Order: sequence, then structure tokens, then C-alpha cells
Amino acid sequence: MANNEELFKKIISHAKEYGFVFPSSEIYDGLSAVYDYGQYGVELKNNIRSYWWKWMVQYNENIVGIDSAIFMHPTIWKASGHVDAFNDPMIDNKDSKKRYRADVLVEDHIAKIEDKIEKEVTKASQRFGETFDEKLYRETNPRVSEYQNKIDDIKSRFYTMLDKGEFDGIKTLIEELGIVCPVSGSKNWTEVRQFNLMFSTQMGSVSEDSNTLYLRPETAQGIFVNFLNVMKSGRMKVPFGIAQAGKAFRNEIVARQFIFRMREFEQMEMQFFVRPGEELKWYEYWKEHRMKWHLSLGIAPSKYRFHVHEKLAHYANAASDIEFDFPIGFKELEGIHSRTDFDLNAHQQFSGKKLQYFDPETNESYVPYVVETSIGLDRMFLAILSNSYKEEKLEDGSIREVLNIPPILAPVKIAVLPLIKKDGLPEKARQIFDMLKYDYMCQFDEKDAIGRRYRRQDAIGTPFCITVDNETLNENTVTVRFRDTMLQDRIVIENLPLFFREKFAINIG
Ligand code: ATP
Repeated sequence: MANNEELFKKIISHAKEYGFVFPSSEIYDGLSAVYDYGQYGVELKNNIRSYWWKWMVQYNENIVGIDSAIFMHPTIWKASGHVDAFNDPMIDNKDSKKRYRADVLVEDHIAKIEDKIEKEVTKASQRFGETFDEKLYRETNPRVSEYQNKIDDIKSRFYTMLDKGEFDGIKTLIEELGIVCPVSGSKNWTEVRQFNLMFSTQMGSVSEDSNTLYLRPETAQGIFVNFLNVMKSGRMKVPFGIAQAGKAFRNEIVARQFIFRMREFEQMEMQFFVRPGEELKWYEYWKEHRMKWHLSLGIAPSKYRFHVHEKLAHYANAASDIEFDFPIGFKELEGIHSRTDFDLNAHQQFSGKKLQYFDPETNESYVPYVVETSIGLDRMFLAILSNSYKEEKLEDGSIREVLNIPPILAPVKIAVLPLIKKDGLPEKARQIFDMLKYDYMCQFDEKDAIGRRYRRQDAIGTPFCITVDNETLNENTVTVRFRDTMLQDRIVIENLPLFFREKFAINIG
């Protein structure tokens, strides 16, 4: 589902109407690219974080977690390269006054040419039918080759200029390619400039020696600087990992697209320390393992794809993104990076402390290499929300709004609903609610007709509704309604805990 703006708007308004995500400081007209999570949003977010933590920390004997502070010694950001290199090249359109990342404009242009190639290939495959040799066609068709040469030429010129900081050349390239502003449609561009994305603040009173601190732009550095502490106190043996989930801050210049790109967001990162030379093996392992985590949630595999980086960051020797099919198109959801020994080496140099591991198998000390997995919690939230939002037309012509959230992540797991508000049904329903609430987030609702109550639960993604009716009192059974099919089963009350244990079991594949 590419570029579905209408759907995206609906999801944003649904998220607000049902207490998932609110614009921050809304009564003061909001704060750009900052959001608050409401009563259901926080449950969904907690559930995603906990599902990640279980897979990464609880299920892996050689991975432990930490929670490091947001404030860190300012030299850390010198060592990591963020003070000098954490910049995006920006360009403004003079007519619309909109600001864009120059690299995104060029990459979008490349993606359009790639689309043209795909169209040619699809057309040809339809024309030739079963005899079609796609590989050969891509290599030999003159039009495809022409497009491909164009792409290669743009990439090689663009990335060279980016590396050398040749911003005039980037502006010329944007003009030469005829890239227009998506809002104004004009080619009236400013110069390309760079902005550092880190927020800074002061520690200590102004009159004393105050220090400039940065709000961390990633959680990873908190892991690197605790490498020795964790290794020693946890008696960790390479290969081992350290995981962390926490807030990160980036002064994003182009901050649109709801919670996709925020100025304050949360990351879930894991740094895996390995023997030098074994990093690419572990890089492949973590690519596969992270994709397995995503697919374990039952979302269609066609919604995910890998994007292998051609231009690598200064610290990496291999990198891929897991992209997700958001309503705004396929975009990065998670990064898997082979970061070499760049970070530990840099911290060793800047701090003067040895950051090495003594390997008892080889009798050698070395700076371990690192493979990291880094996913944005808010982006994962958006992936789940946008994938689960459905408007279904029912037989009676009415529209049902439903969130097919994977049950393990649903904010409310079970709603307990007395059919009517008398004859002892609410009391019986309360007993069932009290029986289940210690294990599951449950909701008790006795207001309005049963149909409306089901709709309210559908709209927040509750996978199961238990209805208590007159038969419950006589036969000790309830109906359990399934959110996705709207079918109902009659179940003996004593069997409910076992029934739900199976329904909410984690699928470790
Ligand atoms: P992008 O290219 O989209 O700016 P990035 O490559 O800078 O992302 P990383 O530095 O690799 O991102 O961060 C790891 C993950 O953190 C990303 O895959 C994304 O899920 C999340 N993330 C990064 N920046 C933001 C942001 N501004 N808002 C929300 N999530 C973010």
C-alpha cells in the first residue's frame, strides 16, 4: 500500500480519538514532532517493548540488559563522531518555504527510476510468459541498462560529494536532475547546509563552570561505555550482547509523518560483542533473527523487506535496514549494523581506559567487534497500528472499525461484559473479571447495548470479549467473542485461564 495519505490521516485521527497517541502540549497548540501516548497507547508501547526484551534478553542466555542515563559525559559524543559528523544536508525550497534532506530528495529520485525499471520488467514478463528469463532481460535490455546507468551515475556522483562535503555540487545535481519541491512544484532551491541533530543543554548553574551536555541521540553509546562494567560484573564471555530500551533525542529538521520521525523517541538497541573476523557471520545471524521476531507477530511477510546499504556510515563494514510497508511507503523500521571495533576503539582512545576482552580460548586480548540491532519503538508502534487498522463493511451495511493488533501486543486483552445490568449478571461478570485481571489487562464494561460495547473493543483492538448472560448463571459458561471473525464460542468458566494461556502464548517459531 504505497503513499496512502487518506488512510494515514484516518489512522492518526483514530489514534487520537481512542487514546493511543495525542499531539504533545495540545492545549497550547502542540509542539512539533513531539507526541504523548494515551491510555491505550502506553499499553501497546509497553507490550512491544516487553516482547522485544523477552526475545532479546530473556530468551538469550548471553544477552543482558541495562538502563543507562540520558545525560552522559560530553566527550562521549566527540568519540562517537556525533559532534563532528551527526549532520544532515538540508535544502529549502524558496517558494514553499519547506525544508528537505538533500539525500532524501536524491534517493527519492533514484527510487522513481528504479520503479521505471520494475515496470519494464513486469511488462516484459507478461509479454514473454513462462519463457521469460528475468536475469538476462535485466542485463541486456537497452532501456533497462540506460536507466541502470543513470542510477549508478547519480549514486557515484552524489555519495562522493556527500563524503567530501561538496554542498555546491549537491545543489547543482538536484537542479540538474530536475527535482521539484513536492509542495510548490518549483525548482527554486536554496544552498545546501548542514545542521547538527543533537540537542544541547547546560549542567550546573550559569555562574559556575557550566558544562554543555547533549541529550543522547542514540542509546548505543550508553552500552559501549558500560562494556567493561557489564563484562566484569556479569562474567560475560564473547560472544555476548547488551540490550537497552530508552529515550533518544534528535533535532530532526524534517519532522513530519506523525510518530515516524519524532524529536523525542524511544529506541530498542542491542550491541553484540564478537571476535574480530566473525562479525559478518553474526551480522547475517542477527538479520535473520530480527526478521524472525517481526514475522512471529503474524504480519504478512510481504510487508517487510531488507534494504542493504551501499553507502556505509563511518563506523560500519556492513549495514541493512528492515523496511516496513507503512502507509507512507516502504521505510526503515530497524537497522542491523556491523559497527566493527570503531566505537570501543574510539572510547579507548578518548578515555584512556583499555576496553578489551581477554579470550581464554585464544589466549589473546582484543577490542571486540560489534554487530548492533536498532529499532525505533515508536516506529514499531506505527507499523503495528497502521497494519492493524481496518474498516470493514458488515452485512447490514454498517462500517466496523477494528484494530487487528497481534493479541500478544493488544492494549486490552479481554473485555468482560454483562449482557444486561441486572439479574445478578454484573456481579457474576465482576467475579470473572477479578479472576483474570491479575494475568491480563482486562476491561469491565456494562454501559450501552452489547453491540456498541463490542464495537468499542474492536476499535481499541481487544482480541476477546467475554459475555455473561443468563445461561452463565445456570450453566457456568460464558461466550467468548473473537475480534477478527466476530464468531463466538461457549466456554466453561473454569476453563478460561487455560483457554487464554493458549491464545496468548508467544510463538517462538
Ligand atoms: P532515518 O534514516 O529514518 O533518519 P536513521 O538511519 O537515522 O533513520 P538510526 O540512527 O539507524 O536511524 O536509528 C535506529 C532506529 O531508530 C531507526 O531504524 C528508527 O526506527 C529509529 N529512529 C531514528 N530516528 C527516529 C526519529 N526521529 N523518530 C522515530 N524513530 C527514529
